[in-house]
Amino acid sequence: MVPIWISVVGLGALWFALSKRPYSNLPNGGKIVDRRKHARLTDDAASHTRTRKASDVRALVLHQMGFSRGNDPKRYDGVTAHYVVLPDGGIYWLHDHTTRLPASGGLNSESVAVEFAGNLPSRAGSTNPDAFWGADKFGMDQLEPAQIEGGRALVDALRRQGSLTHIYAHRQGGPNRENDPGPDVWREVGMWAIRKYGLQWGGESFAVNKGKPIPAHWWGAIA
Ligand SMILES: [Zn+2]
Repeated sequence: MVPIWISVVGLGALWFALSKRPYSNLPNGGKIVDRRKHARLTDDAASHTRTRKASDVRALVLHQMGFSRGNDPKRYDGVTAHYVVLPDGGIYWLHDHTTRLPASGGLNSESVAVEFAGNLPSRAGSTNPDAFWGADKFGMDQLEPAQIEGGRALVDALRRQGSLTHIYAHRQGGPNRENDPGPDVWREVGMWAIRKYGLQWGGESFAVNKGKPIPAHWWGAIA
């Protein structure tokens, strides 16, 4: 028979552990893994990169890669984004916030970019090939539950750093990006951050640089 006070202490410790570590089931305990020294840019991307002050960053721009290479971070070191979130929820940091990357069109100056791995559908949760860009070539992926958690953990981490007030979709920042990041990333990470933290997203008609506003269906059934 375990003395009751030990049980109470044990339960208390368990509650503390669970309540303090909401992302502990993710790879690396939900922490951002620094791969900056491994990251590389194409010559073209490098030629369009600038330096800025870290304090210029106030926004996170959500993207989907349009492909998946699995869960090995080494296979994503060439992605032009500040962060990548892989299907297993692993979060990897590729470029400094002081590096203005050519990632998000008209939103580049004020933002860091996060790319979610996968070729994700243009209708929430769809498995119909016509909902995917180049399904034959790039496959048909779905946003994974762990990947949603990874995206949310990244939002939390950037908020703790202090300057995050806005969240956008790449679609809003330039032409030919209609399904970037797509409805699932927007609803599960973008809308979640808007609801939870009051982050701003520009409003329903906002777009720059020939981008397009967020469409109504991206908000999904829980809008
Ligand atoms: Zn994009």
